Amino acid sequence: MSRCMVLNASYEFLAIEEHWIDALGLVLSGKAVSLEEYPDVVRSQHCVFHLPAVVLMRYQVKTVRRRQVFNVPNRKAVFIRDNFECQYCGTRVSMTTGTRDHVIPSSRGGPDTMLNVVTACRKCNVRKDNRTPEEIGMTLKNRPRALTEDEKIQCLLKLVRVKERNAWLACLQRLGLGLWAA
Ligand SMILES: [Zn+2]
Repeated sequence: MSRCMVLNASYEFLAIEEHWIDALGLVLSGKAVSLEEYPDVVRSQHCVFHLPAVVLMRYQVKTVRRRQVFNVPNRKAVFIRDNFECQYCGTRVSMTTGTRDHVIPSSRGGPDTMLNVVTACRKCNVRKDNRTPEEIGMTLKNRPRALTEDEKIQCLLKLVRVKERNAWLACLQRLGLGLWAA
């Protein structure tokens, strides 16, 4: 069964509800309203319920601000955005073999943000050292950018099923929402 994305009353992402019965419980108890539903239904003796794909809490749940999560260029976020490819030579990297490279080196004032950090294999990282790509004649395959909503969902969950992803993205798009917009 598919999981449900839970948005706080402020429309910010709150959690992923693993069990459909808990997601449905939030709706039936009036704690949340359903924003997007899966085609799947469950039946009780008298009723048919669509399983919620995205629900909105009716009250604001206190939570540690997670807004900054995806502004931080951690390894996972950077590698997912760059498709686990060194942005200088194209070599495939893994969570263990990949490194983060500051395009403008930190020692020279380059910020630690998604817009200045790219995936690099160890070889390229060592070769580039404390220089800019221009100085050493290395070319970036892609300009570093912020994560898309799809990539944020990938950062959030180990495995995202297509049905979940489609329902969540459709809902976010319809409402003009971003997950922790930068
Ligand atoms: Zn490389």
